[in-house]
Amino acid sequence: MIRLHAVSKSYRQGDRVIPALKPLDLHVPAGTIFGIIGSSGAGKSTLIRCVNLLEQPDAGQIVIDGQDLTQLNAAGLRQARQQIAMIFQHFNLLASRTVYQNVALPLELAGAGKSAIRNKVESLLELVGLSDKADAYPANLSGGQKQRVAIARALANDPKVLLCDEATSALDPETTKSILTLLKTINQKLGLTILLITHEMEVVKQICDRVGIIDQGELIEQGEVGPFFANA
Ligand code: ADP
Ligand code: ADP
Repeated sequence: MIRLHAVSKSYRQGDRVIPALKPLDLHVPAGTIFGIIGSSGAGKSTLIRCVNLLEQPDAGQIVIDGQDLTQLNAAGLRQARQQIAMIFQHFNLLASRTVYQNVALPLELAGAGKSAIRNKVESLLELVGLSDKADAYPANLSGGQKQRVAIARALANDPKVLLCDEATSALDPETTKSILTLLKTINQKLGLTILLITHEMEVVKQICDRVGIIDQGELIEQGEVGPFFANA
């Protein structure tokens, strides 16, 4: 579902060049949960931002569902973006909008009609267990509830891929568990492919099928999660 071929990216700071990603290959099979783990500065954010088209790689191909994102024009990119959803460490909800309105937003932007929007939002809120919070504002929700809203919003346009950027790093261990359980349920129910980045081994252990270790912009090891921890 996601393939990266020789993707590289460096940043310029004055006359210094910082190689954030060395030519990197990655394959995330459809329907799996792939975890990228690494310490701060390893290149995790750069990697996920390249897959999400927030960042343009210097070279290489990013292929999602058979489509090379680096070859698309503006219209193609707009369409491709709908297939790639993302959630963040700090949720990124709109404070002035209710839970319902936050989840409805991507549907509104995609031009969906009112009743289609209502049906979809209601079923998404049920999926994430927040049907009773439709009219609440983000400020009145717990961290775990906010992330549930963000997950519902991310799923609004039926993406093929969900990217998670340290999605549980701001949550306590118990809430982390419940969010990871929800992500696993969604992965299994919808067959959604998930690529997540984290600095926490526990996250990888709990839900990932495969894991890659990134260090100084290089994927130094990757494989199935089971054997990975067998000797740990
Ligand atoms: P991680 O998410 O694993 O902490 P990042 O992808 O944020 O790693 O960073 C990888 C490297 O690129 C680091 O050395 C970081 O300092 C550098 N970097 C990241 N973003 C920028 C930027 N906008 N400008 C310059 N250097 C950056
Ligand atoms: P209309 O009354 O014009 O048909 P809607 O009832 O669809 O409009 O929506 C009116 C407002 O109420 C919108 O801002 C929408 O976001 C919100 N809304 C619609 N349905 C729900 C719901 N089930 N729960 C919470 N808010 C809703």
